[in-house]
Amino acid sequence: MADITYKSKINKIRTFALSLVFIGFIIMYVGLLFKNIGWLMLVFMILGTMAIIFSSVVYFWIGMLSTRAVPIICPSCEKPTKMLGRVDACMHCKQPLTLDKDLEGKEFDESYNSKKKRR
Ligand SMILES: [Zn+2]
Repeated sequence: MADITYKSKINKIRTFALSLVFIGFIIMYVGLLFKNIGWLMLVFMILGTMAIIFSSVVYFWIGMLSTRAVPIICPSCEKPTKMLGRVDACMHCKQPLTLDKDLEGKEFDESYNSKKKRR
């Protein structure tokens, strides 16, 4: 079973962008199956290209977000990671992190607890 742990926001968006590339290629591949129907193939090709273009936009957006993200050293695995917003998870060990001391253990736990019991 795939374990549903909290993912860092940047990783989430990156996964989304990567899956968009794959979806784009799949759509284009499906388009090739319709090469006898010219307009249908064209529609699939355009959709596939759009998905890929959109994914590069998302990648660009990640780049923008990364510059605003706060680089920190994860207290849990001691690797450098980046935080987006006040609460995020470590990119490497998925350790929940917060910049705001008041939020420590809050906000996060609600979503965290429902998916997985705390260790
Ligand atoms: Zn970590």
